[in-house]
Amino acid sequence: MNFSFSERLQQLPPYLFAELDRLKEEAMAKGIDVIDLGVGDPDIPTPAHIVEKLKNAAENPTNHRYPSYAGMLSFRQAVAEWYERRFGVRLDAQKEVLSLIGSKEGIAHLPLAFINPGDIALVPTPAYPVYHIGTLFAGGTSYFMPLLEENNFLPDLDKIPPDIARQAKVMFLNYPNNPTAAVAGADFFERVISFAKKYEIIVCHDAAYTEMYFDDYKPISFLSVPEAKEVGIEFHSLSKTYNMTGWRIGFAVGNESVIRGLGKIKSNIDSGVFQAVQEAGITALKSDEVVVERNRKVFQERRDLMVEGLRRIGLEVDPPKATFYLWIKVPQGYSSAEFSQLLLKEAGLVVTPGNGFGEPGEGYFRMALTVPKERLSEALARLKDLKF
Ligand SMILES: *Cc1c(COP(=O)(O)O)cnc(C)c1O
Repeated sequence: MNFSFSERLQQLPPYLFAELDRLKEEAMAKGIDVIDLGVGDPDIPTPAHIVEKLKNAAENPTNHRYPSYAGMLSFRQAVAEWYERRFGVRLDAQKEVLSLIGSKEGIAHLPLAFINPGDIALVPTPAYPVYHIGTLFAGGTSYFMPLLEENNFLPDLDKIPPDIARQAKVMFLNYPNNPTAAVAGADFFERVISFAKKYEIIVCHDAAYTEMYFDDYKPISFLSVPEAKEVGIEFHSLSKTYNMTGWRIGFAVGNESVIRGLGKIKSNIDSGVFQAVQEAGITALKSDEVVVERNRKVFQERRDLMVEGLRRIGLEVDPPKATFYLWIKVPQGYSSAEFSQLLLKEAGLVVTPGNGFGEPGEGYFRMALTVPKERLSEALARLKDLKF
């Protein structure tokens, strides 16, 4: 029998990378040496002392049982200490911190706690797809806030019609941003907070990239802005900071009632993060800053190599202050999809067409700097020979 999917699944937006995936498989089948700059998944291994902690913790039988859904108190305390040390934000580990099976899990589940069918979520575009999909799965409707270069890729809150704002329950934001690599400062967050207070909207700030920064720039936490905790939460993750994407551990912090609502959903769906992984997470959060510093240095070198090389061949790109992405303008005469396909066919390079993250991403493509420098040099050498 062939069972039909729920309306919820049928509503999913079309998968825009299908043609590119097909071309990639075709190229690999032909034996072409494909350089994959498509996925935002660090190639550098998790630091050894964190892996070592997991090994020890896995041998402890008390960790073999169900964890508490909210996370071990010791993990939540390590999160609170890390937030205070890094951002000067004080959190109550009992009430304002919740462990997540990766931040994606929490982002996807949050709308189930606060969105009724027909309610609106304010969702940036282009963006990480989970904000919109989580909203859809909860029966909500996304009102898309375009992120445009002329606004430094920040949403223009004045353009949100008041009747939409009144129906909105949640606003998703993400800075440093994937895919545009844009950053946001306290002045923007202050405007968000007054908007959220006026319309009683929960702000969900996805802060996955706050530790991936360069030069003299250092991202702030949304929660470090006065009164942020009144209106919102922040999602965070160990994935990008400690190269732990496969481990599935993240956390949500901030407004007590929002954390409680998300926790209620989770306690009815999952049973928390494997305690051995939480213990390794504590070790990660207590790491010497040198560990993350080393990581940043690797990505900064890749960024510098690539931005310089791309500009030399005539592509338009700003050096990002944060994240390991480059958001690059497609040359005149091409769409995002056309140019991405050209790069794959003629140079064996996989990049992500900007429109795949949402319509205003048209005219751009994203490169993830998640391959070693030698491969980036090889990518540049191939690009130099390309006619466009
Ligand atoms: C990588 C990423 C995350 C982190 O996901 P995890 O589930 O914690 O691995 C969250 N948001 C954005 C925008 C990302 O790019």
